[in-house]
Amino acid sequence: MLLDAHNRTIRDLRISLTDRCNFRCFYCLPHGEPSWAKKEKLLSFEELEYLAEIFVSLGIEKIRLTGGEPLIRRDVPVLVEKLSRLKPKLSDIALTTNGYDFARHSEALKAAGLDRVTFSLDTLRRDRFEEITAVDALEKVLDAIETARRLGFDPVKVNAVIVRGRNDDELVEFARFARENEVSFRFIEFMPLDSGHDWSREMVVPGKEIYQKINEVFPLKLIETTRGSGTAWKYEFAAGVKGEIGIIAPVTEMFCGACSRIRLTADGQIRTCLFSTTEHDLRGLLRVGASHAELTDFIKAAVLKKEPSHRINDPAFVQPERTMSFIGG
Ligand code: SAM
Ligand code: SF4
Repeated sequence: MLLDAHNRTIRDLRISLTDRCNFRCFYCLPHGEPSWAKKEKLLSFEELEYLAEIFVSLGIEKIRLTGGEPLIRRDVPVLVEKLSRLKPKLSDIALTTNGYDFARHSEALKAAGLDRVTFSLDTLRRDRFEEITAVDALEKVLDAIETARRLGFDPVKVNAVIVRGRNDDELVEFARFARENEVSFRFIEFMPLDSGHDWSREMVVPGKEIYQKINEVFPLKLIETTRGSGTAWKYEFAAGVKGEIGIIAPVTEMFCGACSRIRLTADGQIRTCLFSTTEHDLRGLLRVGASHAELTDFIKAAVLKKEPSHRINDPAFVQPERTMSFIGG
């Protein structure tokens, strides 16, 4: 088991496949041309397979592939197929994507063993979609969500980052979308991980406010009274209505005490928290030929340094250098 110094068991690994993205969501990658990681620094699929086997032997049960936009990497189904060999010890392989390239890879991903998929969708209005992402692709993303449902991915999740003045007038529409399309719609508070460092507390729409606005129109029922090691408060609609709501409130209702995650960046650095200011260079060790045992010890030691909590709400909070697109959301 991977245990940290605060008695948390680490079961979830998020792997960023690339820091690159074909969108420019204003809350993530807004300004100019970022300096992308050099290709030779990215972990190859063979390296990822080898490291994943070590992580799983240490107790990792779930792996989520993310980025940047993970589907920018060529042949992601090949990687999924490699990771699938770690089942059943590895119980879940998931993908977070902006959906742009999902439909054309969907069948291969499913056949390779992908269990779940989460899409990002921050508006249901075409003009606003382009304002938020800088790409006119609402139809493509809606099509991707529909394709995932048709192929039987279950649940299909949709993430929306809610930002004051940008999309907080669509909360009820998002909930309606969840009901009509039978998806799990997850509302995420805006976190200070944007490349423009434009985040401000005033832009955060608190989870409680999101709940109230939806609940006024569509009464919500809490599914579980705790968030467990998950991050979302989960709600269902009235009896007989499908679809689900999740509210993820890392800023106003911190959940670090139950965190079970670590991350591996596209260039092979272990990050023990989204807001870490230090990283652990697993790629460096791997590439100098470290043994299986040395890599195992390195991972265990990194996990022991996992931060007790993020410090967004401390007056002295410093936004990490790396943005969500690099860390892997
Ligand atoms: N490109 C893929 C996508 O957009 O789904 C995967 C990577 S993206 C970084 C993963 C998730 O992080 C997305 O759901 C996105 O909305 C979320 N995200 C990005 N920047 C964020 C921020 N500043 N605050 C909260 N969530 C953020
Ligand atoms: Fe790209 Fe995802 Fe970041 Fe949007 S949220 S810029 S799609 S990595």
